[in-house]
Amino acid sequence: MTDKASPVLAYPLGDALYLNLTSACTLACVFCPKIRDGDFTVGGFDLRLSQAPGADRVWAAAQEAGLAGRSEVVFTGFGEPTRRLAVLLEIAQRLRAAGVTRVRVDTDGLASLREGRDVVPELAAAGVNALSVSLNAADSATYARICPSAHGESAWEAVRDFIRRAVGAIPDVAASCVALPGLSEEECRRAAESLGARFRWRPYDRLGRI
Ligand code: SF4
Repeated sequence: MTDKASPVLAYPLGDALYLNLTSACTLACVFCPKIRDGDFTVGGFDLRLSQAPGADRVWAAAQEAGLAGRSEVVFTGFGEPTRRLAVLLEIAQRLRAAGVTRVRVDTDGLASLREGRDVVPELAAAGVNALSVSLNAADSATYARICPSAHGESAWEAVRDFIRRAVGAIPDVAASCVALPGLSEEECRRAAESLGARFRWRPYDRLGRI
């Protein structure tokens, strides 16, 4: 049983294990329960973190939760995992060395923009072999409206560039949009598939980065 005061750094859902590195985001998505309602819970786990955990703490939590038999281990949570890029890369390497076959990152796709360099090769080298990237819209103006950030409309093009670079470098790349009223599934699908990514249309009422 989880101590109420203990941060949730690793949490199982189904046969997958999810790792929670941060509560910080670059975007403030209008559809996000964290932004909309201050709600950080997923599957009964409260993912709010007041401090950024180091690699050894996250690794200990992953081992305690158990790695054997997992279908995948996913960096996700109510924060952007690549905001903790060094920790993410370190843990991904440890996971692959421990025999985990699928290591996925759920991401806003803005890491290269934030870091000022192409980070896709670093993710691939660390053993990340699946990405789910939030494309979120079929055009830059809609993206900036529903996912506001300091980067404005330029963020959407940065996400597209990240996806383009990831396709071919990472074996499984999905680009997702949330099924918000007014968004066209077909336009979003075309935007995702034109980049070479697999398309995911995520239900609006079942968010939580899973
Ligand atoms: S949807 Fe994801 S990227 Fe957007 S604010 Fe919520 S946790 Fe952050």
